[in-house]
Amino acid sequence: MESRSIAFCGRFLFGKDVLDGARDFLAQLGVKEANAVMINDANTWKVAGESLSKSLLESGLERVETTFVEKGAVRLEVDKAREKIRSLKSCVVFGIGGGVNMDIAKASAFLENSRWITVPTIFSTDAMTGINATFRPEERGVDGKAHEGDYDLTVGPPLACIVDTEVVRSAPWRYQAAGFADYIAKLCAIEDWGLAYARGKDEDYSEYAITLARSQVEYLIANASRIRKMEEPAFNAFLLMMMNDGFLSQVGGSSRILFGSEHMVAQGLMEEQHREHVKGLHGEQVAIGTILMAYLQGLDWLCVKEALEEVGAPTRAEQIGLNDQAIIRALVRARAINEAWIRDRPDIYTILMEESLTEESAKEIALKTGVIQS
Ligand SMILES: [Zn+2]
Repeated sequence: MESRSIAFCGRFLFGKDVLDGARDFLAQLGVKEANAVMINDANTWKVAGESLSKSLLESGLERVETTFVEKGAVRLEVDKAREKIRSLKSCVVFGIGGGVNMDIAKASAFLENSRWITVPTIFSTDAMTGINATFRPEERGVDGKAHEGDYDLTVGPPLACIVDTEVVRSAPWRYQAAGFADYIAKLCAIEDWGLAYARGKDEDYSEYAITLARSQVEYLIANASRIRKMEEPAFNAFLLMMMNDGFLSQVGGSSRILFGSEHMVAQGLMEEQHREHVKGLHGEQVAIGTILMAYLQGLDWLCVKEALEEVGAPTRAEQIGLNDQAIIRALVRARAINEAWIRDRPDIYTILMEESLTEESAKEIALKTGVIQS
């Protein structure tokens, strides 16, 4: 194995009502910056930003200012944040909310040579510790280049991650159910990674990352209903696993642990939703994709489906606003999506490259798994 450096977020403040105690934590971190910039939207300001701002001012920071995200993960928002960072000079940047706000904080801080701390208020993604920030396609993106599809900026891990579990408990459950689904997608991703490695398409393969991921996914599947009820030890375990994703992909030396064929089906479902003007969450598309691909891979798809039902994630076409034909189209198109990914990353070889789905076979999978009914 070639040597490589591993960088992940190693500092967490985690627990009930921790925002009030952020001042001690910042002292422990050795934060020397005089000011802070927070990236919020109107809602995250209310649920977390305001009290964190107070706590930061008490901790001795001179100025704490916030920008409010309105347009999503686009360059305009990053530029707005960068301007604020420049005007405050020495500052630490806080990304407060879901993936979008955290990604804007990560990118703007990175581009201005500042440090950043993530403060997730929902758990629909693993963005809190990830080393990438994801943005929407634009003619001129955050990196100054043109992008036709979503793209990542590699920024490295955050200085720290602060999770107030009471804030997450009060958030709409739909987000946490989606995050749960995105996490158990690793079941399919691991299978595809193993296939790519066996076929000589991917040279990297981390048995360590796979062992950790597998045991975590098994735990989540076995404890889905306890997590849905937010029973204390189980719910906290779920949150900590999501926060552990940045570590998993770093120690595994590849992001392959995070996505496989189920994410390609999910992309097809997202495109179908766009056509129908349905606003879905990434993890909800992945939920359906995971059931379908677990079936194709010969895994225990029923177990996956039951866990998703227990946690309150969608398992049927109509729950994500799609009809039967849309599901079949997404399945048939999944191989072309895989081929498009492979053009950028030849290692992302999955079962879809070996089992081309026809309309008939796609329909059979969707019917057998109960994703469609007729
Ligand atoms: Zn995902």
